[in-house]
Amino acid sequence: MKSDRAFIVGRFQPFHNGHLEVIRKILKENSSVIIGIGSAQYSHTLKDPFTAGERHLMISSSLEAEGIYEFYLVPIEDVNSNPLWVAHVESLTPKFRKIYTNNPLVRRLFFEKNYEVRSMELINRTSWSGTTIRKKMLEGKGWKDDVPKTVFEIIDEIGGVKRLQDLSKTDEDSI
Ligand code: NAP
Repeated sequence: MKSDRAFIVGRFQPFHNGHLEVIRKILKENSSVIIGIGSAQYSHTLKDPFTAGERHLMISSSLEAEGIYEFYLVPIEDVNSNPLWVAHVESLTPKFRKIYTNNPLVRRLFFEKNYEVRSMELINRTSWSGTTIRKKMLEGKGWKDDVPKTVFEIIDEIGGVKRLQDLSKTDEDSI
């Protein structure tokens, strides 16, 4: 029903064109979307280079540049217990009953709490993938066309590529 408020969660490292398309599709079926910025406590690693604040800015400015305003952004830190995670999300977000995810763990946790769980495939995964974009940044390859213009400008302004390349010299995490 178009009056529904839906929920989507991701790490958005970084927010890319595939995420933007998913949000557009969710808003065709729902009146608004709550976007959870997952693993909000992490930054400055190869897998999670950007802070919650930087990701918040990337998402809000990209959506507003597209004339999309029916969203609520909520940074969500991870918790040590999976069974408690849904209650943790509920404590931070406006009320919702429908969640869009393809993550089996997220699907399972919300299903067990009687939420309506839907899947929403990301498109053009060869290019529009956080892992691929971070790899391109590290290798000095072009990634500008894979993200909204404002995301490119924000990453440029904060020196995001240099941050990732510097981290690769010391960080032992894999991408
Ligand atoms: P994620 O870690 O952001 O993404 C996992 C993979 O799924 C990435 O390759 C991602 O690609 C891809 N993906 C994201 N959205 C997709 C979609 N619509 N279709 C196909 N693939 C998609 O995981 P997530 O499921 O998107 O986000 C889950 C968040 O919840 C994480 O931050 C996780 O830590 C948190 N969580 C926490 C707990 C806990 O604290 N106990 C429990 C469950 C979940 P991109 O990189 O291109 O986005």
